[in-house]
Amino acid sequence: MIDFSLSNKQKEIQEKYRDFTNRLIIPNRLKYDDLAEFPWDIVKQAYKEGIMNGPIPEKFGGKGFNIMDSAVASEELGAGCIGIGIGIDANTLALTPLLLSANEEQQKKFFGLINEKQGVAAYCLTEPNAGSDVAGIKSTAIKKGDKYILNGHKRFITNGEVATFHTVFALTNPERGARSLTAFIVPTDLPGIDIKPRLQKMGQKASVQNEIIYTDVEVPAENMLGQEGHGFLIAMKTFDRTRTGVAALSVGTARASFEISKDWAKNRIQFGKPIAANQAIGFMLADMATAVEAARLLTWNAAWAYDNGLRSLSKLSAMSKLYASDIAMKVTTDAVQVMGGDGYSKEFVVEKMMRDAKLCQIYEGTNQVQRLVISKAILK
Ligand SMILES: Cc1cc2nc3c(=O)[nH]c(=O)nc-3n(C[C@H](O)[C@H](O)[C@H](O)COP(=O)(O)OP(=O)(O)OC[C@H]3O[C@@H](n4cnc5c(N)ncnc54)[C@H](O)[C@@H]3O)c2cc1C
Repeated sequence: MIDFSLSNKQKEIQEKYRDFTNRLIIPNRLKYDDLAEFPWDIVKQAYKEGIMNGPIPEKFGGKGFNIMDSAVASEELGAGCIGIGIGIDANTLALTPLLLSANEEQQKKFFGLINEKQGVAAYCLTEPNAGSDVAGIKSTAIKKGDKYILNGHKRFITNGEVATFHTVFALTNPERGARSLTAFIVPTDLPGIDIKPRLQKMGQKASVQNEIIYTDVEVPAENMLGQEGHGFLIAMKTFDRTRTGVAALSVGTARASFEISKDWAKNRIQFGKPIAANQAIGFMLADMATAVEAARLLTWNAAWAYDNGLRSLSKLSAMSKLYASDIAMKVTTDAVQVMGGDGYSKEFVVEKMMRDAKLCQIYEGTNQVQRLVISKAILK
């Protein structure tokens, strides 16, 4: 039997995140788009209201969300502002390696730390010469006594400057290359961490990114996640879990831009009638609505596959991220078109949504990389 209805718990999540978005994100999104600063006040309030760290197990202070619960929550955040939503959701990316491979003691310590500080974490994979090609990572973490000495250069790191700790991927044996890639929890108060000024960028401006240089940072050996050489697998398994989150944020912003432009089209009068009465506009809106539905279904299907342990989950999560972010780009662009000059104006939010959507096609693996994952899965 197929049943697309949400459980009572998921309906409550949807209502709670929608309410939070309406009260705190929507009224502040243009301000943060201008400021290009991390929205600490909203994140602190998110902590207060139990909006942060959904996927962390309840026994460690989270909400114990499965992937479907998280998808429902992220769609609501994306409908408000993906940039602010990422301020809340990027913790999921950085904390997932802990969820997947940390021992009980590490989980207790680091989930505890993030909750106690009401803080955020950063996921540090990308380097100047290792973007799509994760195997090109050059950062090293060489064991010396009970420490690993971390040296390296990361870039585009979301939450870098505001994080309590970084989840860093580095080689423990450079001669073995990516086969020695290993994940570490690196508290940001350790000496030797140089965080460069934040990246200036097109959209999602409430989310901050930095280049980071690690020089002889002494990371306690007990901060290693899993075993030496498990890093590549941890990074890929993390993306299997989190790509549906990017998909859900994309569905949210596509849905919101569609709704705003639909209302506009019903009220904007040209040639003596609402512009929506022209089939050219009505069909555009029909295609936008259809794309949002299809992207949501693909996202929920990928989330369901993950929660039910299906083997096709890498392919499905890549498909959901690819399709939902592509339709977010298309739907937000069409929303601007439907609203004409007002759509292009900064006074209305759809131009911001269009700028925000672009990034969903790039981070957590570009959409070309998603096609690589999908083609590998379907051709093997
Ligand atoms: C705002 C922002 C936030 C980010 N946050 C984080 C973060 O928190 N943590 C983190 O570790 N990283 C983060 N990233 C990095 C992001 O994941 C990378 O930018 C992305 O993976 C692409 O890498 P690149 O930018 O080096 O592009 P490149 O790998 O240089 O790719 C350039 C172009 O070539 C294409 N390409 C590359 N290889 C192939 C191929 N084999 N076949 C076809 N096309 C190919 C790509 O699709 C792309 O279009 C962030 C990036 C941005 C911009």
